[in-house]
Amino acid sequence: MAEPKSATIPVSIYEYVLEYLDIAAKKISLDPNLLKIIEQPRKVTIVKLPIQMDDGSFQVFTGYRVQHSTVRGPGKGGIRYHPKVNLDEVSALAAWMTWKSAIMGIPFGGAKGGITCDPKKLSMGELERLTRRYTADLADILGPEKDIPAPDVNTNAQTMAWIMDTYSMHTGEYKSSVVTGKPVVLGGSRGRHDATGNGVGITVREAAKAKGLKLEECTAAIQGFGNVGSIAALSLVKMGIKVVAVSDVNGALENKGGIPIKVLIDYAKENNGSIVGFPDAKVIEADKILTYPCDILIPAALENVITKENAADIKANIIGEGANGPTTPEADKILYDKGLTVIPDILCNAGGVTVSYFEWVQDRLGYFWTEDDVNNRLEEHMVRAFRHVHDVSEEFDCSLRIASYILAVKRVTDVLLLRGVYA
Ligand code: GLU
Repeated sequence: MAEPKSATIPVSIYEYVLEYLDIAAKKISLDPNLLKIIEQPRKVTIVKLPIQMDDGSFQVFTGYRVQHSTVRGPGKGGIRYHPKVNLDEVSALAAWMTWKSAIMGIPFGGAKGGITCDPKKLSMGELERLTRRYTADLADILGPEKDIPAPDVNTNAQTMAWIMDTYSMHTGEYKSSVVTGKPVVLGGSRGRHDATGNGVGITVREAAKAKGLKLEECTAAIQGFGNVGSIAALSLVKMGIKVVAVSDVNGALENKGGIPIKVLIDYAKENNGSIVGFPDAKVIEADKILTYPCDILIPAALENVITKENAADIKANIIGEGANGPTTPEADKILYDKGLTVIPDILCNAGGVTVSYFEWVQDRLGYFWTEDDVNNRLEEHMVRAFRHVHDVSEEFDCSLRIASYILAVKRVTDVLLLRGVYA
């Protein structure tokens, strides 16, 4: 569902989805009629949100919710607040959620939402009003059996608490299972905050094992130090990997002896989320992070950062896509030809939605698990999914990304065929 291309949207991310789908479909000789169905999002909702600003003026924001598929279960996926949010991007992110849930074997479809805004310029009050208005406008299409949002770029547990409250006020019921990634006291799951980053760590470990690399001899560079990047870094350090370079939107740092990640996380917390000025590392140019000499590269920021311009210069052996869509298809091909292992986003960062699934299960049961329970089950799910994808990549002699698409497309279309098309 790409918007018409314009000067402000130079690249259609949804085209990436279609490109990979096409390759996967050909490999498994998928019925073209089934391909037609899964190529399109099932429902697209656009809302205009008039919000009173703190100075009394009004601004109208645009919000989106795209439900790509509800074949294997209700829609599931995060909500992002960012100035660049647009329909094309949200549609691609929604499709990726469908594939993620299918690869992980969890009973969800795929959806995604977003509001085009710059959250850094909004006060807490403005953010709350924006979130509540968005939720109220979408109340009819959300629900524990319909579509379940979660955090994504620039949204967090507080945002989810407002969504849960607004939805519950509308329905007159306490409905914590309408969103995941909530604060634990409100029905959130233990372990959900760290789940995406921990899942990145688990898949990197499995990929290193498959390549015969020793973790304690590996170094890593991390692009992005938000929730995913920082926890992924911590998870790698716990496995014995040395994190030698880190960047965020404000700058980049290196320390060849290893950056003390735990200390850096605390430092960033005290400095408005920024890593700049951290005393135990040297400043480097921000655009050097992706080509930094290391064994493992974790892009954990936004889309389109690994392109045909820099792919050939990447020195890492393994790329773990913490972000969604960090690699363009052209770059992906260059990396594959170079013999790099790219753990694709729809597998690598699927730990988040997996623990979201655990949260939804716990909310519906009203019975909550320990952090160890959650982490053990996450480990089990990630390892199993990695092995399935790895096996498919060997069977079809293809990259882990194409293997992930093959697995996902098969799982979605198998259910689609069983359910049939209602007409
Ligand atoms: N936004 C996260 C993602 O892209 C989490 C989605 C969820 O938990 O539903 O996977």
